[in-house]
Amino acid sequence: MPEKILIIEDEKPIAEILRYGLKKAGYDVYTAYRGAEGFQLLLEIRPDLLILDWMLPDIDGVDICRMVTEQINVPIIMLTAKGTMDDKLAGLSAGADDYITKPFDLREVILRVQAILRRMDRVQKNAEEPEKYAGAITLYRAEHRVACHGETVTLTPKEYELLVYMLDNPKRTFTRDQLLEHVGI
Ligand code: CA
Repeated sequence: MPEKILIIEDEKPIAEILRYGLKKAGYDVYTAYRGAEGFQLLLEIRPDLLILDWMLPDIDGVDICRMVTEQINVPIIMLTAKGTMDDKLAGLSAGADDYITKPFDLREVILRVQAILRRMDRVQKNAEEPEKYAGAITLYRAEHRVACHGETVTLTPKEYELLVYMLDNPKRTFTRDQLLEHVGI
């Protein structure tokens, strides 16, 4: 399935160029011309990447950036006509992952988009890698499965939760009550 990219940009010719280039690069592209509409669309389609204009007529791009990072985990490229250091810092501290100054070279935008998506892909793959503990236990988080010396161990959901909780908190002692409270028995 192609990765989804949402563009929020009020200047239609710019949104159009980006849409054209990214579609050609194989992405599924959505566009919005206003901040509120774009934010709504974002929550609906859950894109893999957001390209966000700094100056929008209704909501400031930086504010949208903050709203987005509070709600969902999506990489953001800020787009702006301004190029000063202060703006860049404000954008990055609001949660943007990258920054592109207008006028831009379409090929460069696509390269940056590809780089960010590849990085995200790697992070996700790593998160799904099985984890080894004490040489014997292998935890497959994505599958909710545990193996001991390579053999899958049958656990109830509560037992699984309990084991993961303890693996995540090595060298810590818990009282019975703390454990029961955590797994919600
Ligand atoms: Ca604008």
